Amino acid sequence: MRRGRFAPTPSGRMHLGNARTALLAWLHMRSLGGEFVLRMEDIDTARSRREWAELALLDLRWLGLDWDEGPDVGGPYAPYTQSERLERYEAALRKLEASGAVYPCYCSRADILSAASAPHGLSSEGPAYAGTCRHLTPARRAEKALHKEPSLRFALPENREVRFTDGIAGPQLFPPGSGGDFVIRRADGLHSYQLSVVMDDADMRITDVLRGSDLLDSTPRQILLYEALGLEAPAFLHVPLLNGPDGKRLAKRHGGIAISAFREGGAPPERLVGWLAHVSGLIDRPESVSAAELIGEFDLARIPREPVVVDVPDI
Ligand code: GLU
Repeated sequence: MRRGRFAPTPSGRMHLGNARTALLAWLHMRSLGGEFVLRMEDIDTARSRREWAELALLDLRWLGLDWDEGPDVGGPYAPYTQSERLERYEAALRKLEASGAVYPCYCSRADILSAASAPHGLSSEGPAYAGTCRHLTPARRAEKALHKEPSLRFALPENREVRFTDGIAGPQLFPPGSGGDFVIRRADGLHSYQLSVVMDDADMRITDVLRGSDLLDSTPRQILLYEALGLEAPAFLHVPLLNGPDGKRLAKRHGGIAISAFREGGAPPERLVGWLAHVSGLIDRPESVSAAELIGEFDLARIPREPVVVDVPDI
């Protein structure tokens, strides 16, 4: 059985860009007759709010999407909320530690910037970590531990390139060391997105991860984590983002893009779904259509391979 998911971070109101990813992930799975899971990625409790999580569920249902498993409906792999799954992430961490794939890092943000060297890090993170703490002697480690709580980093395997074929973006090749050794638990104890998403997708038996292309360069990290944990990686499909008229990724600052604002303003959901389907290449004109009506004709090949520039729709 194929299984897909949508995994929003409730750090604000869900907007057109998130809804478009949700719609495509849902259509992809429903068109294959597969199961769809909703997972709330609220691990960063400082950024997440319960009200935004609740609003996201309302927005998604209003758009005509449904899920077989999720925080509100439960399911065999519950809980579906990251803040309730911390022991799973700790278990993964212990496994990685036991295999020697993890080391403590005492670097400050300033240390990281000053030691930065090629290759580049993730586009969202700036320069790659230079590996400063990777080869500290036990004595240096003990000395540093007196002054600072460390973060924990995953040591990228030496000379290991990562190749995979993305279901939308095509063949990918990341040279050895891409992105640098990355944090899997922050100094304040927060498990990283990379670790939690891998454990969750594995635990929830997800076979197809369709998400925004801002996460394409996280994928080699996740593939290496699957490997280090002895887990099978899912198929990945990264959809190009929606950009605002200024060419930048659609975001709150573009204004008027919150799904709840359309809903509360009395917009018919089918018009919004039609607009989302149109900007995703699924229908020729932005006419009203329900999410369910799009399942039959859904075709990944129609999704544009480049970011799409959009105006905020007047619906
Ligand atoms: N929670 C992430 C976000 O809202 C998505 C993570 C994923 O799909 O892997 O951007």
